[in-house]
Amino acid sequence: MFFLFSFFLAFLLPNGDNNQAAVVTVVAKPANIYIERSDAGQHLNFDFILKNQSDEKLIINKVELSVYDEAGKLARREFYDEYGRNSLELTATPKIEKQSQTIFYNPFHTFAADVPLKKLHYEFSFSSEDRKRYFKTEIDVAPLFYETKTDLILPVRGRVLIWDGHDYNSHHRRFDYTQENFVKSGYKTNFQRYGYDFVIVDEQGLNYKGERRVNDDWYQARPDKMEDYYSFGAPVYAAGAGRVAFVQDGKADDRKFNPADLAADERAYAGNYIVIDHLNGEFSWFGHIKQGSSRVKVGQTVKQGDVIAAIGAAGSSLFPHLHYELRNGGGAKEVEGLPSYFTNFKRLLGSRTVNVKKGQVDTGDIVDWQDSGKK
Ligand SMILES: [Zn+2]
Repeated sequence: MFFLFSFFLAFLLPNGDNNQAAVVTVVAKPANIYIERSDAGQHLNFDFILKNQSDEKLIINKVELSVYDEAGKLARREFYDEYGRNSLELTATPKIEKQSQTIFYNPFHTFAADVPLKKLHYEFSFSSEDRKRYFKTEIDVAPLFYETKTDLILPVRGRVLIWDGHDYNSHHRRFDYTQENFVKSGYKTNFQRYGYDFVIVDEQGLNYKGERRVNDDWYQARPDKMEDYYSFGAPVYAAGAGRVAFVQDGKADDRKFNPADLAADERAYAGNYIVIDHLNGEFSWFGHIKQGSSRVKVGQTVKQGDVIAAIGAAGSSLFPHLHYELRNGGGAKEVEGLPSYFTNFKRLLGSRTVNVKKGQVDTGDIVDWQDSGKK
């Protein structure tokens, strides 16, 4: 169960004047905000949509966070501002154009395990460009722990690098669904908020065979042959049991994505994919599977650990990899990612290997699938 109202509309008013019409509104997205646990602590993964309804451009001067516990006592307070304590969000998006909206990625995203995150109070400060008018807006967020319902194992075996996951800087988290072309196409959420790009690597962490390229521009220096990538053709395993909801494996492994394809298929950015419905509100997403590799059909029941496809590189894919994600729906337009925890895997920490009964993985982790004995 996870009913909650974790966001509130707030109105930005000129200082001290409550009779003015709303100038800027702030909304926290998604509607359900979750705390994800890891060895490093607690992680929040949500954004703010700031909408400037005024006829002047506004500068975002500051964002401040106050954290309160169950008793309403202050547990933590921190801020970013445009002067002494800057953040990427205040340098990359310092202004909101008149009559427009912007996404503002929550810069307070990771907390120690013992910080009580009952209520998070955010205060935004803005000014006009000439610094003559100052404004504030506030919003409260009440995140909840999310317990993954489905028993999940990692969907790829071998030495696997989480090339990009869903940490604060990951490209999955920073998908800007407020861009006009996505809004026009009906995308209302970040469907890849909790995504992982799984890549099979060697002892050096490289994802391709042969000599290490000296060119720092890894994308230009990439091998041209798909077979040179360790991931290409590697089996994809059902992370959890369920029923196959969607299958597409007809697209070439050409690492190309045409946004026009989204008109016919809202999942087309993945090129080829399989979606498994876990029949509990959770869906597993397997993106960029190899052309013609699906071993399953829509409606078919699968067991955890079944081989369902092979890794490919169709769609919006720089090189062969598996995009895996747990989501709350099988589509993309109004679907959100969910935190996922995997059972029975190994963390490869240099000469040390740590067995994990149940845990989270994220960008930069090197892991291996440990046979759980379940078939
Ligand atoms: Zn991905």
